[in-house]
Amino acid sequence: PPDVERLGRSTWTFLHTTAAYFPDRPSPTQRANMLMLLRALPTLYPCGHCADHLGSEMATHPPDVSSRAALSRWLCERHNEVNERLGKERFDCGLRSLDERWKDGPND
Ligand code: FAD
Repeated sequence: PPDVERLGRSTWTFLHTTAAYFPDRPSPTQRANMLMLLRALPTLYPCGHCADHLGSEMATHPPDVSSRAALSRWLCERHNEVNERLGKERFDCGLRSLDERWKDGPND
């Protein structure tokens, strides 16, 4: 089975970075593609209980793909729900903090 921690770190890196570079005014096609990417996760993510949790989170909090800022915040909040469940610290979901970590700041 995959290493859930390493898989998680890599997946969050991909998702937050992709959100950080999502357009401010996405086209209908870009929105639809992002929605498909996110909606695929609960069926494909290779950590079953993680995928189940994400699916129920997404049912009560549908993805907001209307803009870069909205998507970045939505994703940050979903990540914080996982953090809380695992006893990890919450992250500040302001766009400045998100950009500093995932767009403008130093890379890992
Ligand atoms: P991670 O949580 O992987 O975070 C990586 C980095 O992201 C952090 O160092 C920090 O700089 C930044 N960050 C932290 N919080 C936020 C935020 N809210 N917004 C933006 N950036 C942030 N593990 C389980 O054991 N059980 C689960 O149910 C589970 N569900 C998961 C669901 C999904 C969709 C994903 C992608 C992962 C899931 N994981 C789960 C894995 C878990 O979230 C962590 O990735 C893993 O525990 C490694 O944690 P970490 O402390 O290295 O940092």
